[in-house]
Amino acid sequence: MRQPLRGDPLAYLHGPGKIIPGVETALEGKVEGDTLQVSIEPEQGYGVRDERLVQVVPRSAFKGVESIEPGMRFQAQGPEGSRSVVVTEVATDVVTIDANHPLAGVTLHFDVEVSGIREATEEELAHGHVHGPGGHHH
Ligand code: ZN
Repeated sequence: MRQPLRGDPLAYLHGPGKIIPGVETALEGKVEGDTLQVSIEPEQGYGVRDERLVQVVPRSAFKGVESIEPGMRFQAQGPEGSRSVVVTEVATDVVTIDANHPLAGVTLHFDVEVSGIREATEEELAHGHVHGPGGHHH
């Protein structure tokens, strides 16, 4: 699956693991103007799919929802707090939901261009994120 999105440049702090690890590894030692294509295996990206996160629940669990369609997302309350689930199948009495991350099990492809590199300021290092263009504004 290609990610066709071409967004604004993303400024990130190299080092503390703020972006997908595989992308960061590929950017190691790169200089301004370098372009690279990076493929990230699921293990390095959003993880592999866990079929235990696919559950069949009674339709009555969706109180107040009149029509349930595959592809709808809900916040489900579980023992570990709320997590996002997607409806994958709807039968008369039961609904199949999948709590895997949408990109779990997916190999990601990135076309990366290094548009600039600069030293992080002490304040940025303290905050753990970038300030200014492409970063935080606060
Ligand atoms: Zn900050």
